[in-house]
Amino acid sequence: MSSTPLELIVLGAGAALPGRGRGPAGYAVRGGGLVGVTLLDCGPGSIRSLADRGLDLLDIRRVVLSHFHADHVLDLFALAFARRNPNLDQDRLPEVELIGPAGLAELLSVRQAPFDLWTRDPRHRVTEVFPDAGVGLRLERADVVLEAREVQHTVGALGWRVQAPSGASLTYSGDTGETPALAELARGTELLVAECGLALDEAPEMHLNGAAAGRLAAEAGCLGLVLSHFYPHVDPALAVAAAAEAYAGPIHAAVDGTQLLLEPGQAPRPGT
Ligand SMILES: [Zn+2]
Ligand SMILES: [Zn+2]
Repeated sequence: MSSTPLELIVLGAGAALPGRGRGPAGYAVRGGGLVGVTLLDCGPGSIRSLADRGLDLLDIRRVVLSHFHADHVLDLFALAFARRNPNLDQDRLPEVELIGPAGLAELLSVRQAPFDLWTRDPRHRVTEVFPDAGVGLRLERADVVLEAREVQHTVGALGWRVQAPSGASLTYSGDTGETPALAELARGTELLVAECGLALDEAPEMHLNGAAAGRLAAEAGCLGLVLSHFYPHVDPALAVAAAAEAYAGPIHAAVDGTQLLLEPGQAPRPGT
């Protein structure tokens, strides 16, 4: 049992369009008994931001991917390229497991010219997952349990739940419309990281807005909600207010660098 809290560090709280203070999707998770750092999605800028957030490239042990939109996956290539850099101590380089929906191996295939071998990582292991519709999938690793559910976005898009040995958990929506699958995945979790790509007057069919995220957090009974993946036209304050109409727990609007600490059975508290 670890004494450190499970920690979420937002690397990118924005989406595909440039937004001040909010880069494309990327989240780092560590602590709570996890070994090293697990990334949830790896959008452009995620690798560049590691140093700003006090994270070491050599600590990354796995990357868990929600779907293949470019704002969620492009820095997989930056990660591989960085890990091959001769200035890194290659003897200290751990294996990285890349976990994602079907298609991940093809994305990383050397057949995808003209990227050369320098963006292919010889020390990564690829795990494609195929969750049963309506049931989901559970992956057990030595330091973590990961659960995936198909959500409502692109074909095969996944939401993920990260269960730490400490007993704390967080659930990441990936990109999704409003779907009971996400509430089921997030049931009783300490923190729901919900995308908030839409404004309140847009129907939450392929993405969420603040009101829909609040409804899902309430239905899931989670102990905290962080809204993220904001497009520039979405007003975070209005999104938080709308979420609060449905959900009584603490709500945070993420910016790049937001940190939240999770202990089992307790509401998330901001990190320093
Ligand atoms: Zn997205
Ligand atoms: Zn997407």
